[in-house]
Amino acid sequence: MDIKQTDVAVIGGGTAGLEARRAAMKAGARVLLINDGPWGTTCVRSGCMPSKLLLAAARAARDARAAAEFGVAAQGLKIDGRAVMARVQKQRDRFLEGILKQVSDIPAGDKLEARARFTGPTTLDVGGIRVEAKAVVIATGSRSAIPPKLKPVADRVLTNETVFDLPDLPASLAVIGAGPLGLELALAFARLGVRVTVFNQGRTIGGLKDSEVERVAHVLLAAEIELKLGVDVSAEDAKNGARLTWSVDGKKQDGAFDKVLAAAGRPPQLKDLDLAAAGLSLDEHGSPNIDPETLRCGDGAIFIAGDASHLLPVLHEASRQGRLAGTNAARFPKLKSEPAPASLSITFTDPDIARVGAAFDADDPDLMIGRCDFQAGRGIIEGDRRGVIRLYAGREDGVIRGAEMVGPSVEHLAHLVSSMVQQKVTVETALAWPFYHPTYEEDLKDCLTDLARQRGLDAD
Ligand SMILES: Cc1cc2nc3c(=O)[nH]c(=O)nc-3n(C[C@H](O)[C@H](O)[C@H](O)COP(=O)(O)OP(=O)(O)OC[C@H]3O[C@@H](n4cnc5c(N)ncnc54)[C@H](O)[C@@H]3O)c2cc1C
Repeated sequence: MDIKQTDVAVIGGGTAGLEARRAAMKAGARVLLINDGPWGTTCVRSGCMPSKLLLAAARAARDARAAAEFGVAAQGLKIDGRAVMARVQKQRDRFLEGILKQVSDIPAGDKLEARARFTGPTTLDVGGIRVEAKAVVIATGSRSAIPPKLKPVADRVLTNETVFDLPDLPASLAVIGAGPLGLELALAFARLGVRVTVFNQGRTIGGLKDSEVERVAHVLLAAEIELKLGVDVSAEDAKNGARLTWSVDGKKQDGAFDKVLAAAGRPPQLKDLDLAAAGLSLDEHGSPNIDPETLRCGDGAIFIAGDASHLLPVLHEASRQGRLAGTNAARFPKLKSEPAPASLSITFTDPDIARVGAAFDADDPDLMIGRCDFQAGRGIIEGDRRGVIRLYAGREDGVIRGAEMVGPSVEHLAHLVSSMVQQKVTVETALAWPFYHPTYEEDLKDCLTDLARQRGLDAD
């Protein structure tokens, strides 16, 4: 058996793995990068970038339809599905080129292309090669999960790994899952003229915890896509497509769909790593115990980063965690502790959905809520006043803790709130910041004013 020795072995060549490699090398370590499957990262191949490219096409269609309100006629709207998908793929491949160039610049001796599994605390089997490391970073990402109930229609099932490679738009699409991934793609396809129905076992959408924001998001999205919540779907193959069956209030319903998109969550990809062989104790989901501030697993020299950690499965966290895990693996046993920044996640559903800061807790007696609809001038100018912002602050100290929101320009408002949370800014301080006129940021200012009034401050 071939043996390869290294200081740090990084398993996974996605965003977290590439960042971990860079950071470990910067800290002076020899690094071996191990990746199974195509290089190029999930973000670029089948995640953030192609989904946003599809949403950009959908926005063009939406804007064309909404143009009449402004006295601009866009008659005879025609959507060329092949052209839509060709642009998604062309631009996605453009992003991909940059990452593939990075990977090809890694010397051949510093990377291995095969599946890795642990054989001991810091030893691995990688396609028959024994890798002996001083420390290991797990950056294996997450995987799409296809519900077993979709097995009978497997030929028609799409995941994020296959949907962006369709040569044309499907005629109809059932989306299983109403989380960020399901909602973004459902909305994109619906705006491009595809008949879309979203099915969700749970009764809430978009991962929202604040029932008022969730209710508004539900109403806004239901205006464009059919939402079937609290339903369990079964599937069978039929002549005219995948026939799905579900029950609403005890009444059986069914429908046929050209394609079915599995979007009901992406669990961490840890299963085939044989973490038990590394001596790690695992919870009921097969995940190790992780120190969120060092990303160390258990008490050995194993670190974890990105979707594999499941701490916050978004891109900027994959990068940050990759850097921290790579640094700590290289410096082991000298560990750097880094608290996670303010939590921030955005769903680009236009109106976008965002969650910032600690999860909303309706039972927290110290929580004050500042609320506003999008009623300031900018919404009237743009013809888009759909949505709500709920901004949370501590009743005692007035420190801004987070927000949930749905509405226009939310991606920018969420960043602003995340800076407030990160810097532990009080309502009074934030109100003294400049708010340009006329912007959607003025709606956020209305929330701050609402909070200031509740704190008995003169906010006018
Ligand atoms: C459709 C979609 C849209 C998204 N949109 C956004 C967005 O807009 N904004 C945002 O912030 N985030 C978004 N995300 C999430 C974001 O893409 C992920 O958080 C991020 O890409 C995770 O990076 P990673 O490095 O952890 O994993 P990955 O990039 O998946 O890398 C993991 C790598 O490890 C390899 N691997 C796995 N197991 C092994 C093994 N045993 N041995 C060797 N190699 C292995 C895999 O093949 C893969 O190459 C989206 C995700 C999806 C699916």
